[in-house]
Amino acid sequence: MGEFRKQLNFNGEGYSFEVLHQGRCGDIVYMEGEKILKIYWEMPGVKELDMLIWPDLTKWEPPVLEAIPYEKQREILARLRNWLTNEGLKTDIDLPLTIKSENEPCIWSGCGNDRVMGSAYCLEHIDYTTLKR
Ligand SMILES: [Zn+2]
Repeated sequence: MGEFRKQLNFNGEGYSFEVLHQGRCGDIVYMEGEKILKIYWEMPGVKELDMLIWPDLTKWEPPVLEAIPYEKQREILARLRNWLTNEGLKTDIDLPLTIKSENEPCIWSGCGNDRVMGSAYCLEHIDYTTLKR
């Protein structure tokens, strides 16, 4: 993967993503109205992926500095995955290309949802393990 373009991606839905980089790492900046969230990334050592992403989506940047509710974190995570896919960037938080359910239960204790093809978890618990790692 070569240089990332500095990318503004306003899409009429009131949010945007921009990649900032310093050498082999940087931030993906998510903007929604006045609120800003920086998501740290690094270049991986494997050619199959373009970025490794640390999806800490728990708090807005100053001056807002407000905790982000968990369901809102899931929404931002979904937007982030969608944007990365549209940019053609492969990362360690990508979902399988098609979200197909297997007729096997998610291994999360007490969860009865069908698991996503290629994962041991349902989508809800893939998100949970991604956001809490
Ligand atoms: Zn589950």
